[in-house]
Amino acid sequence: MIKKAIFGGTFDPIHNGHLHIAYEALYKFNLNKIIFMPSGNPPHKLGKKITNASFRYEMVKAVTREEKSFDISSYEINKINLSYTYQTLQHFNDLEKDTEWHFLTGADCLMDIESWKNADKIFQLCKMVVFNRPGYNIENIEEQKSKVEKKYNGEIIFLDIPLLDISSTNIRNTVREGKNVSYLLPESVYNIIKQLNLYKY
Ligand code: ATP
Ligand code: MG
Repeated sequence: MIKKAIFGGTFDPIHNGHLHIAYEALYKFNLNKIIFMPSGNPPHKLGKKITNASFRYEMVKAVTREEKSFDISSYEINKINLSYTYQTLQHFNDLEKDTEWHFLTGADCLMDIESWKNADKIFQLCKMVVFNRPGYNIENIEEQKSKVEKKYNGEIIFLDIPLLDISSTNIRNTVREGKNVSYLLPESVYNIIKQLNLYKY
């Protein structure tokens, strides 16, 4: 059985918190591949200022180049319309019918999954793997997990891993303040941020 995961995110920028959960999933489930999926125009971030998709793609690409089990897909950023997770999962399920698909997310996404378009379909198309994240307590996560599993008749695997308190928002703000963020993300990504002068304004 081939097992793969899709890891969706804005990745603005990709950071060590993302890699932390990706490697946990990779080893825990013996995944053949993790496909990083930078979002095009994320529905839940409408109105917020996001970095050009090609720059976000470039940063994720730098990371996936360094690990043979990681891959990147431009499926969502190439879409003209809004990209919805259920459509992405449908696309990959259609491409590889015999692959067991997983979808990686942090606790914040589990908490608002009911607002995602066609959430029920998402659960027919993958096993959802949820990681805890600073700011969320285990009881609340477990409670939400049971509720959502019942509501959508789906499977959620919750992994309670050591927390890494890193977010892209915090990285962007820290760069803007002129402070060093090099220890929060891979060196290749840090170099691209410097080169392109991202997050300064
Ligand atoms: P932003 O602050 O811009 O929202 P972010 O750090 O949350 O950025 P995203 O690209 O929004 O990064 O997240 C992609 C996925 O990675 C989401 O499912 C999110 O929950 C998860 N994630 C991001 N950072 C962490 C972390 N430190 N620990 C666990 N999960 C994380
Ligand atoms: Mg986020």
